Amino acid sequence: MTLSLTTSVKYLKGVGPKRAEALARLGIRTVGDLLYHAPHRYLDATAVTPLARARVGQEVSCVGQVVTTGVLPTRRGLRVFRAVLRDESGLLECAWPGQPFLERQIKQGQLLLVTGPVRYYHGRQLVPREFVVLADLGETGPDRGLVLPVYPATEGLTHRQIRGLIHQHLDALLALVSDPHPPRLRAAVGVPELRPALAAVHRPRDLHDAEAGRRRLAFDEFFDQQLVQARARHLAKRARAGIAFALKKELTTRLKEHLPFELTDDQRRAVREIANDMTAPLRMHRMLMGDVGTGKTVVALFAMLLAVENDYQAAIMAPTELLAEQHGATLTRLLQPLDLRPELLIGRLASAEKSAVRERIARGAARLVVGTHALIQESVRFHRLGLTVVDEQHRFGVEQRAALVEKGDAPDVLLLTATPIPRSLALTLYGDLDVTELRERPPGRGAVKTALRTDAARKKIYEFIRAECAAGRQAYVIYPVIDESERADLKAATTMAEDLRQLFAELRVGLVHGRLSPEERDAVMRAFRDNAVQILVATSVIEVGIDVANATVMLIEHAERFGLAQLHQLRGRVGRGAAASHCILLSNVPQAAGRLKAFTETTDGFKIAELDLRERGMGELAGARQSGGVPLRYANFETDVPLLEAARRAAGEVIARDPALARPEHAAYRKRIVARYERGFELFRVG
Ligand code: ADP
Ligand code: MG
Repeated sequence: MTLSLTTSVKYLKGVGPKRAEALARLGIRTVGDLLYHAPHRYLDATAVTPLARARVGQEVSCVGQVVTTGVLPTRRGLRVFRAVLRDESGLLECAWPGQPFLERQIKQGQLLLVTGPVRYYHGRQLVPREFVVLADLGETGPDRGLVLPVYPATEGLTHRQIRGLIHQHLDALLALVSDPHPPRLRAAVGVPELRPALAAVHRPRDLHDAEAGRRRLAFDEFFDQQLVQARARHLAKRARAGIAFALKKELTTRLKEHLPFELTDDQRRAVREIANDMTAPLRMHRMLMGDVGTGKTVVALFAMLLAVENDYQAAIMAPTELLAEQHGATLTRLLQPLDLRPELLIGRLASAEKSAVRERIARGAARLVVGTHALIQESVRFHRLGLTVVDEQHRFGVEQRAALVEKGDAPDVLLLTATPIPRSLALTLYGDLDVTELRERPPGRGAVKTALRTDAARKKIYEFIRAECAAGRQAYVIYPVIDESERADLKAATTMAEDLRQLFAELRVGLVHGRLSPEERDAVMRAFRDNAVQILVATSVIEVGIDVANATVMLIEHAERFGLAQLHQLRGRVGRGAAASHCILLSNVPQAAGRLKAFTETTDGFKIAELDLRERGMGELAGARQSGGVPLRYANFETDVPLLEAARRAAGEVIARDPALARPEHAAYRKRIVARYERGFELFRVG
């Protein structure tokens, strides 16, 4: 039978039913899977030490001819396989304790590469961690070293057996692949041709060679993924003929003139990008990503005014009433000089008032609307909705965001998020969105000092909180609760609040947690906002985005139980006013000190997101790793970002020229994607 990449591995020589089963456990079903099976590390045995010069205590790699072999028992009854090797310099004994079965694999006369430590045992003795029978690899010359790939293994199949299998068939398998990329693209990215790349990964000359091969395969993984995303984006955009707003520069210019502050460079760039999207005939589908306090609201307001000056309505939806009220207040303030007033639509309005607002929205008298889920209720009709903004977009479900969009006739969409994620992840998770980052913070806000303390400092910390509150400031105390539905878990937070009430008798202490109803929670938060409560004890549920400028202390108990990204979100609650703020991490777990210390040293949310990603590993982010159903085996999200960017650019260019991959020179791309991606077929089915 003729071999192809989709042939089942069980037809390969050396693979019986048992082995096929073991291989399947590693995700290897076809010979193509086997060819692309990625080594997870390499053993560098390129520098070969002459046998006579292997010293006790060293780690060495040696090559020699097997002169004698035998199995001997040791004192402890352990059976040891031994082989004596010879090269031009002399002899050396190798010993494999507990592996008598090697007698069947290692034979007199073979050329063997061994690597491992040399010990003293009745003389010099090498205890190999790894060995390769070079004769099996078609190697010649007794002085040739090697870089050995080490593969993920599974029960019943050692990495050595996998290596043997791959090496045995490598040349036949390599003959099956051809490079889908034109030489121009390979040269631009700086990666080798596919066949040499695969050969280098499995049979490298040296570590450089292996890395060059890996980079090529990593690029291909990203490229395929980005092709799929570019295609999805293309289809979405085509289906998204939208409003081409005109740059009238009326309201937007007046807002700029009346702003009580200068926009940061990042904000200016964001406004420009958004305006470009909105003036294009395609619908905007953009995410604005920036830490709390980077000033997303005012950027969104520019977008809203651009819609309004084109005689459209604009709406912003926030996840809680408190946040909606806050936006309402902010917009009212900023729009006052423009003689514009936003309408607020939230659940707790009196019903007569609500229907009056709904009526003004339906009539078009309400031009800027701020609201909560109340906006997407059936009874709400817009006169002419041109832009929808969703704040804290992850707090809404897809359907809820869609419901808002459906209130208009193909309005533009702007999503806001205060949860920065590394660019690599954003490109993967939000491939069908355009992303704008706000990294810069507006000047003139109090810096947040972060400190790591143990329980020994508790008294001092409390005194500090007392002093801050005496000076009219407020404090958060965060208590980690793993499972809010567990009464026992909540008890600790409740007890803590009780203790603080006794300790700070002169102050009001509030408590919020996940078991409160939204109304109860809002009431406590409101009391805190109005400084009727000075110390707020909270489990991790406290509202994202709430702006209590007067709160200057954030104390986090058992800080080690939080992820770094979560800690960063919590820290973002303070430092919102002009006064200096403090975030204090309490932790008595020495093992956590390293990561918490790293956290205290930066306030850049994007940097923290990267640390967080590294900490949790990609394993947890399976959704990203498996984006579209294909696991990334060679690509690394942390270190390969430039490759990902290159892949995104290249894929974008291909789709721009040939959106359906219909041209003959793109047939190979199309075939790969249809074969490998769940959605591939569907995406490229239509022309
Ligand atoms: P985000 O929603 O990104 O967390 P906001 O939009 O709520 O941030 O802005 C936080 C605060 O910063 C607001 O009080 C806002 O008025 C203020 N602000 C925004 N941009 C600037 C700027 N360029 N200079 C000074 N203050 C700014
Ligand atoms: Mg905000």
